[in-house]
Amino acid sequence: MAEYKKTAMPVTREDDYPQWYLEVIKAAELAENSDVRGCMVIKPWGYTIWENMQRELDQSFKDTGHTNAYFPLFIPLEYLQQEADHVEGFAKECAVVTHHRLSLNGDGKLVPDGKLEEPLVIRPTSETIIGASYAKWVNSYRDLPILINQWANVVRWEMRTRLFLRTTEFLWQEGHTVHATKAEATEETHKMLYVYKEFAENVLAIPVIQGEKTESERFPGAVSTYSIEAMMQDKKALQSGTSHFLGQNFAKASKIKFQSKEGKEEFAWTTSWGVSTRLIGALIMAHSDDNGLVLPPRVAPAHIVILPIYKDDSERETVMNYIEDIKLEVAKQRFFERKIVLHVDDRDIRGGEKNWYWIKKGVPLKIEIGPRDVEKNTISVVKRTDPGLKKNFILKEEFINCLVETLTNMQNEMYEKANSFLKENTYEINDYAEFKKIFTPKNEEKPEIHGCFARSHWCGSSKCEDAIKEELKVTVRNIPFTEKQCEGNCIYCGGKSSKRVIFAKSY
Ligand SMILES: [Zn+2]
Repeated sequence: MAEYKKTAMPVTREDDYPQWYLEVIKAAELAENSDVRGCMVIKPWGYTIWENMQRELDQSFKDTGHTNAYFPLFIPLEYLQQEADHVEGFAKECAVVTHHRLSLNGDGKLVPDGKLEEPLVIRPTSETIIGASYAKWVNSYRDLPILINQWANVVRWEMRTRLFLRTTEFLWQEGHTVHATKAEATEETHKMLYVYKEFAENVLAIPVIQGEKTESERFPGAVSTYSIEAMMQDKKALQSGTSHFLGQNFAKASKIKFQSKEGKEEFAWTTSWGVSTRLIGALIMAHSDDNGLVLPPRVAPAHIVILPIYKDDSERETVMNYIEDIKLEVAKQRFFERKIVLHVDDRDIRGGEKNWYWIKKGVPLKIEIGPRDVEKNTISVVKRTDPGLKKNFILKEEFINCLVETLTNMQNEMYEKANSFLKENTYEINDYAEFKKIFTPKNEEKPEIHGCFARSHWCGSSKCEDAIKEELKVTVRNIPFTEKQCEGNCIYCGGKSSKRVIFAKSY
């Protein structure tokens, strides 16, 4: 058992958290950098996690009345120009298509040719291109609401990229809705934020804080932006989903107008909301440990892996027959309406290596079965959530009968653990010296894990926000819905404040 004392990752979270994050991704074979700068290759294990997330989210969107559609990848430059704040927010990170063919030059090299009269922008987000369609579709109040979601890729030219968290191209969903009234659009904005909250907590086992973003962190062009914020194990925040109330700004820009019941022509009210493959980054950083990936059963590509152990062909036959029985029993069961996925790894590689391979990939339950297990009608099972990775010998029937309960318990334990961590690292701070101390690492060169979620008063001025950001790289993550009105003094300037907000360092 001595082997279990050292960790499978070459660096621990404590040693070097950013490096540990990359090592987990590599060891679990989730993704890798591609030759195209800033773009990642999502490998099958990582992509299956995304598919599992997609399926859950997609169902929630449909349950709340939305349908999927698809709009173009290219946005005419003039569309982007229609909303001033929007263009300002995204102009610096746009990929632009300027030519439409290639031809050979004198040196036999391919060069762009056929210059476009008007350049096309690769969507950084789709409010404007979708708005152009909506303007055609909406004529009367009878055409409303429009409740559409799109699964797509988007491109935002990032200079400093990081797998899953910040890449030039990423996958996401973007909901775009149109409503007849402000009240309906507001309700939609909150409803979808709640859908994200439920998804993060129930499916990803990550507790989140719902709240409103400050003006400086608002989506370009939105009237208000709301977010869910999660705490990673290095006590930094990760914005995990956003929902925007766009007022009539984009309706005016795209000319989405309708005839009201009273026969008046009015601009519509719109919303947009999205989550991305960034959530895979959240999943890794919220749950994984020094032995690699730890996955909540609800999104794990496989729930169970079985490693058969045998010395010769006759033992192999005995063991594999026994495994067949287990497979049949498991196939009859469902975990949250999904088939329980059981993988048998019969590859000809060393036992220890194979063991660690699956630990690093985060499969919830790892089972070993040898001839002695067959004799005794037992199995040996290791739960990935057990920090000691202890082997438990149990009767085969017991394992089968309790399987759904076991997975459910593991899912819940992961949430509870993350929630305790969030609670233990959230403080009420009223004094700037204390605030500064907690957000300043002892080792500036190579910062150790430090910081927290600070519940502090803020006067509402962007000056204070900017000063704190400049000095400590700490920002207001959001203004939580759960914070009650209470009189206090701004953590920075001492000015009057009526509510606490969440300050933290973030990704
Ligand atoms: Zn202030």
